Amino acid sequence: MSRYWSELAASLVPYVPGEQPKDKKYIKLNTNENPYPPSPAVLEALRGAAGGDLRLYPDPSSTALTETIAEYYRLPPASVFVGNGSDEILAFAFAALFRTSEPVYYPDITYSFYPVYASLYGLESVKVPLTDDFDVPIESFYNVDGGIIIPNPNAPTSKYVALEGIRSILEHNPDRVVVVDEAYIDFGGESAVKLIHDFPNLLVVQTLSKSRSLAGLRVGFALGHPDLIDGLNRVKNSFNSYTIDRLASAGAVAALKDEIYFQQCCRNVIATRERIAGQLRELGFDVPESKANFLFIAHPDKPAEELFRKLRDKGILVRYFNKPRIDNRLRVSIGTDEEMDAFVAALRELTVAAAAGKDSN
Ligand SMILES: *Cc1c(COP(=O)(O)O)cnc(C)c1O
Repeated sequence: MSRYWSELAASLVPYVPGEQPKDKKYIKLNTNENPYPPSPAVLEALRGAAGGDLRLYPDPSSTALTETIAEYYRLPPASVFVGNGSDEILAFAFAALFRTSEPVYYPDITYSFYPVYASLYGLESVKVPLTDDFDVPIESFYNVDGGIIIPNPNAPTSKYVALEGIRSILEHNPDRVVVVDEAYIDFGGESAVKLIHDFPNLLVVQTLSKSRSLAGLRVGFALGHPDLIDGLNRVKNSFNSYTIDRLASAGAVAALKDEIYFQQCCRNVIATRERIAGQLRELGFDVPESKANFLFIAHPDKPAEELFRKLRDKGILVRYFNKPRIDNRLRVSIGTDEEMDAFVAALRELTVAAAAGKDSN
């Protein structure tokens, strides 16, 4: 607390990202990064863009990237917005598309940035309880008196709402914006992008951070009716005209053009996820079916916080949230097969050794 802070700065409770430790080399399964490097075409494009032109400002409309995304999703460029990571787009969406006279609705267990943005923009939040199985209760989002944001698949639960569920929420809220945060959609879900033509109140937000291995480049995008995109541009241009730098633009365009590499990475992550989910279930873990690049696991006897600490001691980082309803679970990003084998071996030691200890008591 400083006496020089504004009332706003003093009132904020900022988001806390997963740790990026520098003390030693960890197996990092704590921030849902992709274990595979970006496409070689991305690295080549970055080298090509790293020249004298960096003295010039980038295109404030990010035309090349916007058109690449529009073509990829067969939408008009006016339906595409790009941002410096999807977190930035989500912040703009809270400011541009949710009204301060109304609350914003989202699941009680969800991406922890939503309450942060709500309070930054002075919005009241209504946290809709997930079912005991962490499913989104579709009907609880019918005819609500405010905007809606749902991650699909949800984080950190990893669970997915089928397209019909999203459609149904849109149908029941024609006068309010519904934001679907699809950070993890490429790992097995069906995108709501195809609903954009039918629903002018739908904004789909995606990112290149997870499925395209570009968390370090900071590029996300939103797709929706041009009126929604205009709203986002009004906020963006009141904030920073150049959110996409020249390197980010070049790298992102190249990533979107290498479809084969992208598909292969997604297939690899999904195959590893399914294999590891099976092994964890054999060890006695509860593992909800995941459509994301992470698993949300609990052990019947071993407290999650203890496993979190002991894994850390073994050089393996996972994410633990000390929050109601989920404080006995770990969120585990899918790494390479080799990393995940080391993870399962460590858990086997920690849980089977525990069971053996119990027997001898
Ligand atoms: C990772 C994540 C994002 C943000 O990703 P960016 O790196 O800012 O694009 C947004 N929403 C959810 C649910 C996420 O998990």
